[in-house]
Amino acid sequence: MSGAGRGYDVLVVGSANADLTVRVDRRPGAGETVLGTDLVESAGGKGANQAAAAARIGGRTALLARVGKDAYGDLLLAAQRAAGTDVTPVVVDAAARTGTAMIIVGPDGDNSIVVSPGANAALTPQDVAAARQTVAAATVLSLQLEIPIETVRAAAATAEECGTRVVLNPSPVPERLAPELLAVADPLVVNEHEARRLSGVADGTPRDWAHALRELGARSVVVTLGGDGALLLDAEGLHEVPGVTVDAVDTTGAGDAFTGALATRLARGDGLPDAARFAVRVGAAAVTKPGAQPSYPTLADLDALPQ
Ligand code: ATP
Repeated sequence: MSGAGRGYDVLVVGSANADLTVRVDRRPGAGETVLGTDLVESAGGKGANQAAAAARIGGRTALLARVGKDAYGDLLLAAQRAAGTDVTPVVVDAAARTGTAMIIVGPDGDNSIVVSPGANAALTPQDVAAARQTVAAATVLSLQLEIPIETVRAAAATAEECGTRVVLNPSPVPERLAPELLAVADPLVVNEHEARRLSGVADGTPRDWAHALRELGARSVVVTLGGDGALLLDAEGLHEVPGVTVDAVDTTGAGDAFTGALATRLARGDGLPDAARFAVRVGAAAVTKPGAQPSYPTLADLDALPQ
């Protein structure tokens, strides 16, 4: 089945978290306490982030996630609606708390994160089965690993049955990725740490990791390289996409901005190199502002970036 004429460019099945962020001058070591700035609460979670990124740039986007029946759940739903995401598939779970991510942003703009999954842990294969028509209505399904792995597998299998292309961002990175998940990834989107871990090539370069991941079964691979852009490998070969030079303020959610944008452009018919060139710009725009979703650009915001 072709994706042309489907109701959604991108369906994201994944996590939604409230991000609780504090900036520090110095990261605490084990057993140490440091003082930070005032707490900032904002919408995050890898699934919700990717949906917001896709919707902000005009992708017709839907989200399947679970949130608690609480103030953070309301905040996350409001943020998705504001971005333009269809939240009809989101399940509001009276028995669980909305997931939270505790984020420490260091002086260099890099972050350290602890996630409490909450309602994300209750997103089930049954929830995917109930949303089967939405999977079939999407051109691209975007998946990450902050929900139960059996739910990720169910979503990937349903997408295969429906002819929906799967973009898989295996984060947080497991020791090993199930071969049937690798085999549907088109592309597998990994940062350098994830690429090294999943490829099993400890001392290699991004090229080595991309080749190894394709040999392990991924249909195509994108390795994101922070400020250096991204490297892609598909059946046509390797492509390098240079980074965009910006003043990085906070890299939280940059990878999700990249992936949501990549999924949208693939759904709109771009080849992988063009989609990645666009996604690198979206990722770069996202690091110029604090937070995850609050930092995501519209198409108009991208015009302000250096070419
Ligand atoms: P995060 O975990 O912080 O969300 P990540 O580790 O998954 O990110 P990265 O490779 O660090 O992913 O970044 C993803 C994309 O974001 C890059 O491909 C690039 O487009 C953009 N990006 C990240 N850091 C920078 C930077 N310092 N300057 C410009 N662009 C950046």
